[in-house]
Formats: sequence, C-alpha cells, structure tokens
Amino acid sequence: MMIDKDTQGAATATVTVGDVVFGGQRLVLIAGPCTVEDRTQMIEIACAVKEAGAVMLRGGAFKPRSSPYAFQGLCEEGLEILAEARERTGLPVVTEVLESSQLPTVAAVADMLQIGSRNMHNSVLLRDAGASGKPVLLKRGMSATIQEYLYAAEYVLSAGGRHVVLCERGVRTFETATRFTLDLSAVPLLKEQTWLPVIADPSHGTGKASLVPPMARAAVACGADGVIMEVHPCPDCALCDGDQSITPELYYNLVKELRAVAQVVGRDI
Ligand code: PEP
Ligand code: MN
Repeated sequence: MMIDKDTQGAATATVTVGDVVFGGQRLVLIAGPCTVEDRTQMIEIACAVKEAGAVMLRGGAFKPRSSPYAFQGLCEEGLEILAEARERTGLPVVTEVLESSQLPTVAAVADMLQIGSRNMHNSVLLRDAGASGKPVLLKRGMSATIQEYLYAAEYVLSAGGRHVVLCERGVRTFETATRFTLDLSAVPLLKEQTWLPVIADPSHGTGKASLVPPMARAAVACGADGVIMEVHPCPDCALCDGDQSITPELYYNLVKELRAVAQVVGRDI
C-alpha cells in the first residue's frame, strides 16, 4: 500500500499546513473549542491558545452529533468566524467536513480538512477529500482496527491526497468510566507501519477534562507528532463536549509541561 513505510523509506514524511509542519522535530499543538459557538468565544479562545503555544486552531462548524436534536454547529457562519480567528492570530485552521457536498464550502476556508471518527469508513468522502488536494486530518474510527484505519488513509492517498495526518482519538471498549479508551499504543504502532505523521486527541479519547493533561503528557512521551485538545473558557457553558474541555489557563500550564516532556524524548514544542 502507499502508506506502508517501506515504500517511502524510513522517516516519517512531513505534512505542511501553512507554516505548520507535522512530522518534524517540532510537535504540533492544535487547540480550540469543540464547536464554534460565536465570534467572541472563538476569537477569545484563539488568542488564548496562541499565547499558550498552540500553532493551529480547531473548531467545528459542521458538527457530527449523536442526537439529531443536538446543536449541529453554526455551519457557514462558523466557517466565517474561523476565517476571522485565523486572520486575528495568523494560525491555520482545521475543521470537520461531514459530507462530500460540503467539500467546496469547507475547503474554501479550512487550511486542513478534518474527517471525523464517525466518517472514517465513508470511502466516498475519503476519496473526495483526497482529490481536493487539501491536507487531511483523519481521525481513527471509534471501532476501527488499525488495519481498517490504514485502509481509510489509503483511500485518501489513492485519490491523489498526499498530505494526511493520522489522529488516535480513542476507541470503544467494555470500559464505561471514560468516554472512549485512548489507545496510545496505536501512536508508535502507526508510526512503525506508515510514514504518516500521527497525533493524539486526549479530549475525545477520555471525555474527562481531568484526564486530558496526563494523557496529553503520555501522548508526547510515546512519540506523537502533535496533540489536539478542546479548550473552552467556560467548559460548563460549552454547547458541545464541555466535560472534556479544559480552560485556557489550564492549557497554558499544560503546554509548559508538554514542552518538558518533549525535550525528554528529543522533540521541541
Ligand atoms: C471533534 O473533533 O470535535 C470530533 C467530533 O471528533 P471525533 O470525530 O474524533 O469524535
Ligand atoms: Mn468535540
């Protein structure tokens, strides 16, 4: 397969999004709210995470929600707000695309397309995202084996996509104390088997804000090329995923810890 390591030599390839390089010496910290709620919220968080050391912004405009009655995101307006947050901070933006028909709209604003866990098996979307030429952040399906995940990445690459970053975001297990089980062994395993950069998402991977800092430290320690986290100034008021969102203050302190851990494993932040 195209993603197999031996077809590309030993090293992890780099994926570039604006000034940000995945898979290099420097780890990529992505942060922002689960979902874009309003202009003030997004700009406030964007400025705060930039000051803390994040190099890319996240925020959902089109949200994949379990319930059809839950807030589905601000859609096009959310994209406009993300563009404004990028303008204010200079940080590139990653945001989710839910279906192929949204690709032109989302790709017009996003620097990187997120394909979420629920869509990892959507081969049509994977192909169309690959064909768009935009960098893709491909999250692991919550019930996907490593092999299925690799095939999903292969769909993007085989359609012409060259810039794919993998993201371990937790899988379903028998455990109910956490939202998902963050499979950190997938990080070194994927890096062993493919040349793609691999990041981790301890927010969705645990579903609990208190577990995000320790699992983020562990992700850096096990060789992740970056960490994506949900940050919200008022997690209790968040419209989506408040339980797993950390405050900007906590994020600021966490980045300092991650910097120290990165140094131990020969990386920089
Ligand atoms: C998200 O990043 O907000 C999200 C919905 O992620 P996942 O697809 O991993 O659940
Ligand atoms: Mn979320």
